[in-house]
Amino acid sequence: MSLNQLTAHELHEKLKAREITSVELTESVYGRIDAVEPQVKGYLTLTKDIALKQAQKADEGFVNGDDMSPLAGIPIAIKDVICTKDVKTTCASKILSNFVPPYDATVMTKLNQQGIVMVGKTNMDEFAMGSSTENSAYQITHNPWNLDTIPGGSSGGSAAVVSADTAICSLGSDTGGSIRQPAALCGVVGMKPTYGRVSRYGLIAFASSLDQIGPFTKDVTDCALVLNAICGNDEMDSTAVDVQVPDFTQALINDIKGLKIGVPKEYFAEGIDTEVAEIVNEAISEFEKLGATVEEISLPHTEYAIATYYILAPAEASANLARYDGVRYGYRADEPANMIDMYKKTRSEGFGEEVKRRIMLGTFALSAGYQDAYYKKAQKVRTLIRSDFDKAFEKVDIIATPTSPTPAFRIGERTADPLQMYLCDVMTTPASHAGLPGISLPCGLVESGLPVGLQLLAAPFDEETLLRTAFTFEQNTEHHLQRPKL
Ligand code: GLN
Repeated sequence: MSLNQLTAHELHEKLKAREITSVELTESVYGRIDAVEPQVKGYLTLTKDIALKQAQKADEGFVNGDDMSPLAGIPIAIKDVICTKDVKTTCASKILSNFVPPYDATVMTKLNQQGIVMVGKTNMDEFAMGSSTENSAYQITHNPWNLDTIPGGSSGGSAAVVSADTAICSLGSDTGGSIRQPAALCGVVGMKPTYGRVSRYGLIAFASSLDQIGPFTKDVTDCALVLNAICGNDEMDSTAVDVQVPDFTQALINDIKGLKIGVPKEYFAEGIDTEVAEIVNEAISEFEKLGATVEEISLPHTEYAIATYYILAPAEASANLARYDGVRYGYRADEPANMIDMYKKTRSEGFGEEVKRRIMLGTFALSAGYQDAYYKKAQKVRTLIRSDFDKAFEKVDIIATPTSPTPAFRIGERTADPLQMYLCDVMTTPASHAGLPGISLPCGLVESGLPVGLQLLAAPFDEETLLRTAFTFEQNTEHHLQRPKL
């Protein structure tokens, strides 16, 4: 195996023992990028100069025998929605094509304190709106398992680069499923932490009451390591929650005896691919063999989650995206006739189709005559969805579902029909409404060779039970060892 194929925790042992250097590791990642990135197209920006300097610095620390963090010298990719000081951050939008943030997002500051190596910025759906990464203004990312298919979205680049071994881990963001769904479709581990667990400072806002940053990794241990690095309260984000951050690696225990797992019947309804349902059911029966009890539960408001999401998320987006006006930063249209024309042209030329669709949906849902009928109603339904989960977690510790109703679909298959695309989120948006932590784990392959994801959800701030359950599954199965033949 070459270095770029290993996990962060395996690499840390080698770095600590000085069997390898971070510079060698970083070179191996860029070597892999040279070989496969022309087909995968997961990156919008590569930061090799920065990476090699960071790698050298990490190596000095290892040579000096300093107390090095588990992520020191590890090549990590960052979704292009996260601000990186002095490195272009476009959100895959033309409107931010020239935006170079003068500051780091809090997660970046934290990762830099750990001494990571930044490989580059990954492709995504413009402003994180989409489920296939086809809404990027720059390029389409290809799924490493089958280059004719999409990697999922919106964090498709971050999922694809971990799956293709062109990064060891990565960060993405999840508003309605954008970490969990691409993780499932690319056969890697992806976690959305509890809303408020990770600071959103420096995360370019899509829907602020839902957005959350989280990791993509090759296994659950790496997921715990990245979580350790990025979680915590932050005075720069008033929605970051002041709760104690445990050492998540302590939750990596191979034992779920007596754990209660609920399987919501609404998630296996019409629309789910039969092969996906079979594979996920098989994964769930594995939990029983491992000593957990599995029972059917009901989350009765599940069917309203998508409609609610596609009112609330666009409503918040329409407000958040008002700032891109050509005045303060980002793209500005040439030769406008007057000020109003400048706003109009800038926004018409700078935003893509899907972003415009969301702004229109959102401003409509918030408009004077319709606010009560749509926005307020959706807020009420959101509360009902959350109370479904509250009730369920009185009875069970973990909820298990498929992550996505289908495996990866072909590029172009759903672009003509936005509603078809929105249905990709049917299994991920409910937990987003409730602010719950969720993880997607590889749990098998369909006939055509594409990966399927198992979604596990836990009560707010119970990432530890989530990690223990995921770790136990991983220790007793081999799905996470399957790699794409790229
Ligand atoms: N696919 C969903 C959307 O288009 C979710 C995106 C996300 O989580 N950022 O909004």
